[in-house]
Amino acid sequence: MTERELIASWVLEPGTGKAIELKRGQILRIEQIEGGQCVDFNCFNLHDYKEYMHTGRTRTLHGLHPGKGHFMWSAPPRERALVYILEDTAQCNDVLFPRCSAHLYESVYGYKTHTNCHDIQAEAQREYGLTPDDVHDSFNLFMHTGVDAQGKPWIGRQRSRSADYVDLLAVEDVLAVPNVCGADVMRTSNFSLKAVRLSIFKATKDDLAAVPPLTKLPSQRTPADFRVKEIKADRELRRDASYAPSFANVPIRISDLAVTLDDGEFALLQQCKLDDIYRDDDGAALRDIVFSWWAERFIPGR
Ligand SMILES: [Zn+2]
Repeated sequence: MTERELIASWVLEPGTGKAIELKRGQILRIEQIEGGQCVDFNCFNLHDYKEYMHTGRTRTLHGLHPGKGHFMWSAPPRERALVYILEDTAQCNDVLFPRCSAHLYESVYGYKTHTNCHDIQAEAQREYGLTPDDVHDSFNLFMHTGVDAQGKPWIGRQRSRSADYVDLLAVEDVLAVPNVCGADVMRTSNFSLKAVRLSIFKATKDDLAAVPPLTKLPSQRTPADFRVKEIKADRELRRDASYAPSFANVPIRISDLAVTLDDGEFALLQQCKLDDIYRDDDGAALRDIVFSWWAERFIPGR
């Protein structure tokens, strides 16, 4: 592989974060120095901060532990890939837990002031005029988590080691905000805070070729498609007296639709029904088959 051009690098000290303009085709490497440190990561569309990384959509498409070959997606109605996880040597990331917060440390541990990811994120992105309300759920790099048999989430000890790294390739221009997680009283970072290294590289042709092709669909909307086009600048909520609802497909009408299946499709349908999810609802089974077929082809990195 061709050598990557290094554009910038920093050491991110405990208690801090940094807002970084990461242009399309640039790679942000987040790297362990000592090892064992969780790093929270957020990003926004650099040209429209209302489009931001959405852990919920990402979790649905890639599971609780996104890694190499997955994308981080923006929230509906945008739903675009913002960054691609090009490399991930520790394979231990999380999109289940929210960022830690001042309230967590005060309510659970009694600390009046404690380093926490929400406040660090807020302070880092303040450089770009964003408020503490603009922080959103984070992609938690090097965080070892899971869910127990009762459905409760758990945090395990750190597994990352010195020189482990995650490479995030921007597929859109983003404001990337990584921070050293402030949790030193739990297993998240093995009960201590350590510095991590940040580097920005220019992606090589091989890097860019590794990104699966992305499709652009009309349902991935932009502000040009919105009925309200201006960003609300004041905080008070007031009713718009001229508002008249205009919901799509309303009133909803239900009608039967005949679907012809060939022998192979019919066998697949019968096979699908064996698991008892759909019982006698052939239509539901068919819709699931169609969704699985679509998802395999059109959800990159799935
Ligand atoms: Zn944290």
